[in-house]
Amino acid sequence: MPAHLLDRPDHRAAPRLWVPKHVLVTRSARDRPHTARILERVAAHGVEDVRLLDGDRLPAAPKGENEREAYARAKATMAVVVAPPSALKPQPIPPSADWRLDLARGCPAHCQYCYLAGSLSGPPVTRVHANLDDVLAPVAALTGTGSVTTGDARRGGEGTTFELSCYTDPLGIEHLTGSLATAIERVGGGWYGDGASLRFTTKFDAVDPLLGLPHGGRTRIRFSVNAAEVERFEGGTARMPARVEALRRVAAAGYPVGLTIAPVMPVDGWQESYGRLLDDVAVALADVPGVDLTAEVITHRFTPSSKQVLEAWYPRTRLEMDESVRSVKRSKFGGVKYVYPKETMQELRRWFEREVPGRLPGARLLYST
Ligand code: SF4
Repeated sequence: MPAHLLDRPDHRAAPRLWVPKHVLVTRSARDRPHTARILERVAAHGVEDVRLLDGDRLPAAPKGENEREAYARAKATMAVVVAPPSALKPQPIPPSADWRLDLARGCPAHCQYCYLAGSLSGPPVTRVHANLDDVLAPVAALTGTGSVTTGDARRGGEGTTFELSCYTDPLGIEHLTGSLATAIERVGGGWYGDGASLRFTTKFDAVDPLLGLPHGGRTRIRFSVNAAEVERFEGGTARMPARVEALRRVAAAGYPVGLTIAPVMPVDGWQESYGRLLDDVAVALADVPGVDLTAEVITHRFTPSSKQVLEAWYPRTRLEMDESVRSVKRSKFGGVKYVYPKETMQELRRWFEREVPGRLPGARLLYST
């Protein structure tokens, strides 16, 4: 990164790092080389409660624990596990990427709209995968295949794309695992051949360990950003100015970058709020030469099961999840999602289609959904 961009006077505070209270290691994960590296990092962060389990099942909740207590304990727990076959099975992940890779499942943050609620079952323990080589092996096997971004006139140039943030926030746990840096270095260095690229999105800002990696321009780092009125639902994450500053720093380090503007909510004065957000990004990137910036816009939605889980986790939430003011969207497998009514969706989409390129010259809006 050019020195003048690193040395810019700013108000950067130390990044927000999650430190689990409890670390569990399953028997199958225990002797893996990556587990040893993870446990060194865990020790360096001062975690004292590290338990090596006799089996591969995580312990059941203590008797008498209520739902809130179970949630709090799970969110304070990191488990080192061997990724199950379902996490190793290649899956297309439209509209983001050709394929999904799971470095972990679960996330320590507390977003009241979390899209993982209802898609991952059980208590929200962050399970990090010890068999990193197995997790990354599909990059070699699948490069050259794919039908989401591969073949897309605007996105095909990125090669076969692999999304790392389907079931976790990989930067939020990177200081404890190092898995993300390994993936970035391997793909950047052509370990799996040419023609693959990684992408992930994050609400954290601890980007320092990524800045000097030989990434080869093959990892697109996106920051999940939002209007201030929505940010208040995002507990345990880095604040918005810190995310925008982290975006500037990785862009200056030569990474392709992106904004995941999600979940978009038509809060009062949303045009001004989202306008301010885009303007803040424009200011942050103004002195960074040659930025490759994309934007993805995803409106808020919920499912019957995610609503049920989120209401149990956040019983006092003020997040609107009112079916009566939403439209129903059915998937081809019969699943139901509640989205904003058609007119609202159109209004939001038109605004972002106009304002993203208008306020962020050179940015490419990849999709708006
Ligand atoms: Fe869920 Fe993402 Fe928030 Fe983590 S950062 S709690 S994965 S929405």
